[in-house]
Amino acid sequence: MSHLPQTIHEARRLLRSGAMTSVELTEAYLERIAWMEPDIRAYLHVAEAQSLAQARLADERMAAGQDTPLLGVPLGVKDIINVQGMPATAGSRILEGFRPPYEATVVRKLREQGAVFLGKLNTDEFAMGWSTENSAYGVTHNPWALDRVPGGSSGGPAAAVAAGEAIAALGTDTGGSVRQPASWTNTVGLRPTYGRVSRYGVIAFASSLDQVGPMTRDVRDSALLLEAIAGHDPKDSTTFPDAVPHYADMLDGGVRGMRFGLPREYFTERMHPGVERATREAVARLRDLGAIVEEVSLPHTGYGMPVYYLIATAEASANLSRYDGVRYGYSAQAPDLQENYKLTRGRGFGPEVKRRILLGTYALSAGYYDAYYLKAQKVRTLIRADFDAVFERCDALIAPVAPIPPYRIGEAPTDPVALYLLDVLTLPSALAGVPALALPAGFVEDDGAKLPVGVQFIGRPLDEATLFRIGRAFEQTNEVA
Ligand code: GLN
Repeated sequence: MSHLPQTIHEARRLLRSGAMTSVELTEAYLERIAWMEPDIRAYLHVAEAQSLAQARLADERMAAGQDTPLLGVPLGVKDIINVQGMPATAGSRILEGFRPPYEATVVRKLREQGAVFLGKLNTDEFAMGWSTENSAYGVTHNPWALDRVPGGSSGGPAAAVAAGEAIAALGTDTGGSVRQPASWTNTVGLRPTYGRVSRYGVIAFASSLDQVGPMTRDVRDSALLLEAIAGHDPKDSTTFPDAVPHYADMLDGGVRGMRFGLPREYFTERMHPGVERATREAVARLRDLGAIVEEVSLPHTGYGMPVYYLIATAEASANLSRYDGVRYGYSAQAPDLQENYKLTRGRGFGPEVKRRILLGTYALSAGYYDAYYLKAQKVRTLIRADFDAVFERCDALIAPVAPIPPYRIGEAPTDPVALYLLDVLTLPSALAGVPALALPAGFVEDDGAKLPVGVQFIGRPLDEATLFRIGRAFEQTNEVA
């Protein structure tokens, strides 16, 4: 096969026309994985036999006249989302050997629509991190600069899509984990409105923040994939009952006359000059397309980091209490129960996860609950109100995604607070539960390297359609890399 399609819509066109079968397409992707993985290391598990069996089934369905937007298309899945018959480690030793007995709703939906799952993709342990360096199974390399991190926690999905090792992938975003790696790998990442997509079967980190999001090469694919996974799920009571729009039919129309807010607080002190320049250029491009861009203020932005790291760690400490060495994965097999808990958790969790369990347990402990957790929830309401106020005037916000470009593997800031500050531009929207679409905005120079940089559009709750329309108009202004 001479030409390997790189988007869902292109693959579907070729499959539909009979130019190739899903088995051929899947085989070609498996070959590509075998060829690229020594450099990239995005996959924790490649499901050769299973994906080919799915592809055969898809070919049969096509032969029987079926045609759905994902039929026969090979995708990757972040290893924090349960796929029947495949391991699920969440990047943690504590889940080594665990095979979930059930499947995530998002995966079930894709399976029903005939998608093919190539395998499971690397993640920071329990999605806590920025780079995949917190994965217990090794770091993933950025396809644009192999000595750099791909971002995280959905670094595996981002790198796989960027390197052409999957047509598209599913990631998760708790405080930026879809958008930041997308912006560091020149790919498109959507954090949907909290409640738009089911969390059932997704290994929980912080339940009031976790959302599954599409990671794709273009905006049309993001729309197709969101439509395929979104919707009400009786197994996740936080999902909206609202009907899912046909997002892919709503991409056109442009941004002429639309009002954008540029949040003043998002140009932080430690921002790399190249990131600031790319954001300002993106604003200029929007104006050229006929949009109105005005500076706005989200006054509680500065509280995003402390509020997120109280709420997310508190919820994580509760969610992660289930890993007791009895029910799942790794067990230290100590003869005495208390000792078994201690050894299993001591050996099974990595340092970042332990730090968060400690922080979260402290924040929830008697006497501190009101001072920390409750207070954080109140400030979260103020952060949400900041967004409500600007959305009275603006259709969407435009903002940078991460303050710096991808750093070299092993060269992350050593001070945890400096690390936590990497998320300042993605945490407030996650806390507010609003959707945000990150997409390529060009490249920045850093220490001799040319590195991808993204921009994000933040929208009103449940208004992903507007984000796709903006994204589609914006991506057409990108030069082909
Ligand atoms: N980097 C943030 C954290 O470590 C966000 C991670 C995420 O969205 N899963 O918590």
